[in-house]
Amino acid sequence: MGVWETDYFDVAACPCGEGRIQRVVESPDNPWSRTSVRYDLACADCSKNWDVSSFDGTLTERSSLQASRAADAVRKETEAAVVEYLNSLLAAWPLPPFKTMAAEFEYLVVKGLYTGTIGKYRFARRSYSMREIAKVRPSSPLAPELVKKLGTTTKYDSLTGQAQVARQAADAKAKVVKRIHLPSQL
Ligand SMILES: [Zn+2]
Repeated sequence: MGVWETDYFDVAACPCGEGRIQRVVESPDNPWSRTSVRYDLACADCSKNWDVSSFDGTLTERSSLQASRAADAVRKETEAAVVEYLNSLLAAWPLPPFKTMAAEFEYLVVKGLYTGTIGKYRFARRSYSMREIAKVRPSSPLAPELVKKLGTTTKYDSLTGQAQVARQAADAKAKVVKRIHLPSQL
């Protein structure tokens, strides 16, 4: 491989207007290598807070993206806390005895404690007990009964309330991530 020829084409102004977004075309000096195209942000100021996609030149404002990711991490934590609480209650939930694995599977599916197929369930039962496989989610039909009989409604309401607030905050932050796309004719 020899020396590549590199060409720079200005394709748009940067956000502050002082620099440019450039298409960088690298051509090989031999016929068997492919030409490569990427995008660069040629502005020292904008580079501090904008990332450019080398693939299509789309600019993303780093600070708003980071705020969105942080809010999303909080959302995941609060949702995990709800699931963790429900599963701590499930540990004390009396599972009735069953004659067959199919009957166990049927019970778990109806209560929303298992989402796989019967085949997957039989396979999992080779290594785990029914109780170990059962997992409760906030949408499981058993969840309200579980909280009422074994848990504390105020605690559950508090956890789900926090999750709802965090979800709304994450949605709001995701909507305001600033992106600038290159004009499509380029
Ligand atoms: Zn700039």
